[in-house]
Amino acid sequence: MDLRLEGTAGGMSPRPRLEPVTPPTPPTPPGSALQRPCPCGSGETYDACCGRLHRGAAPAATAEELMRSRYSAYAVGDLDHLFRTWHPRTRPADLTPDPGLRWTGLTVVDAGEDWVEFVAAYERGGRAGELRERSRFEQRAGRWVYVDGEVDPG
Ligand SMILES: [Zn+2]
Repeated sequence: MDLRLEGTAGGMSPRPRLEPVTPPTPPTPPGSALQRPCPCGSGETYDACCGRLHRGAAPAATAEELMRSRYSAYAVGDLDHLFRTWHPRTRPADLTPDPGLRWTGLTVVDAGEDWVEFVAAYERGGRAGELRERSRFEQRAGRWVYVDGEVDPG
């Protein structure tokens, strides 16, 4: 059925005048990084999820939330967030990321109060890889920080 034929039976009937319509203005430009899905895979936008923690609007409530925000910080290149959430005792002096490495997905396998086991997927030089780690966290002055992690070779 072709709906465009409707109303054309009279032949020369004038077209109805269209009111000018102002398109609704989106709150942020389309394609803005803030409105993209969060790299941590939560299903929220980056802005509502890890972006909040990256810009310091909220502290991580749990070790898992901090772990997710740190993964996202690697994915978006927020070295400042990584530095701030790393225990001073174990923090490396140089956080320069590997420019050929792209983080492509996170799966939290299991989590306790102060540890998180996860699999982080990445791509390097067109080849896919996976990092499986059990990370340990500590609270310092009421804030969760990353201490260290054991990489699972298997
Ligand atoms: Zn997130």
